[in-house]
Amino acid sequence: MLQIYFFITYFINKKSFTILQIGESMIKNMNLTEELLVFDAHCDTANVLYDQSSYFIKENKSHFTIDKARTGGLKAQIFALYVNPAYAPYRTIKKALLLYNAMENKLFSSGNAVKVTSTIEMESALKKGKLACWLSLEGGHIIENSIEILELFYKLGIRCITLTHTKNTDWADSSGDEPLHDGLNKLGRKIISRMDELGMVIDVSHSSDKTVVDVLDVSSMPIMASHSCARALCDIPRNLSDDLIKEIAHRKGYFGVNFFPGFLKKSINEQVMKNIEKNTEWFKKEIEGNEDDPDIVNKAEMGLYSKIVEGNDNVDLNAIIDHIVHIAEIGGVDCVGLGSDFDGIPSTPTDLTDVSCYPVLANGLSDRGFKENEIRKIMGLNLFNFLKNFDKK
Ligand SMILES: [Zn+2]
Repeated sequence: MLQIYFFITYFINKKSFTILQIGESMIKNMNLTEELLVFDAHCDTANVLYDQSSYFIKENKSHFTIDKARTGGLKAQIFALYVNPAYAPYRTIKKALLLYNAMENKLFSSGNAVKVTSTIEMESALKKGKLACWLSLEGGHIIENSIEILELFYKLGIRCITLTHTKNTDWADSSGDEPLHDGLNKLGRKIISRMDELGMVIDVSHSSDKTVVDVLDVSSMPIMASHSCARALCDIPRNLSDDLIKEIAHRKGYFGVNFFPGFLKKSINEQVMKNIEKNTEWFKKEIEGNEDDPDIVNKAEMGLYSKIVEGNDNVDLNAIIDHIVHIAEIGGVDCVGLGSDFDGIPSTPTDLTDVSCYPVLANGLSDRGFKENEIRKIMGLNLFNFLKNFDKK
């Protein structure tokens, strides 16, 4: 059981009121594990739980376990059901359901964690000392172009969809692919409208700039980028431009900063790209003759994980804080928070190696001049407040 004696309403009402009166950082005097609501917007542990032979288990690098969550004070998490685009167009639903099943059997059934679909359910889970687990789909190809399947996933408790992964879907362009639809096509616009009606969070991490622009045009809800960084500090298409940060923040959106060094620093991204190039032949050999078998393609991509970070430079958590500072400067301190991508990234900052390290990040924010109320927002409250918009009235 997580030892939580401070409930969210307490964080929001009493604490922030007191904090505003004091107006200076008291973070060093806090028991961070107990008192801080740590809530992260993206991690890929479902795949680790499903595939016990995965890279993260083999290398003993699984970033999330219940024990590590306890140590780090992680109290709520959006878990992504990531399905490799290689499973598209017709084998994605099965894979997503297998991941869902792994979450049920290996996490929720443990009694330490509970699936939640609203902030009300989240508060109730926290009061019982359980890890509050939201579920999302990563990416849009999983619904196999069907609004009915989208609705079915909603009924199953999925409350968020990352529109694309690294490839275009049949209805939305990805930042990792050549433009195909000039953003969203007609079906994409229909899907966005239906997500709005259902109260499903639109996650534009991985989306192309034009897709984000189109989403902002169609949707009337706040949107999020669950695990992206700022392009101004690391100029790659996967990260968000200042203009989009401004626009999304203006619409009360949320940004979870990704912890992957290759998204935090351009020079490391260049090292990653070189390593990918260097291992292209290796990858081709791994899937040779099985190019149409998504399990084999997926396994080979996982194998590539350890290779793309070989010999790369390191960063510490200040690289993450640089992006938090920048996004807060552009969009305000209420829009930014955590989007670790733990269990989905093959390397991490040296001092933030798994979910047990969150207190170190909170202290790092304090060292960089953030006040206690701002640290509370960044570590979890901003995400909680963002998701409140999607509670059924
Ligand atoms: Zn991702």
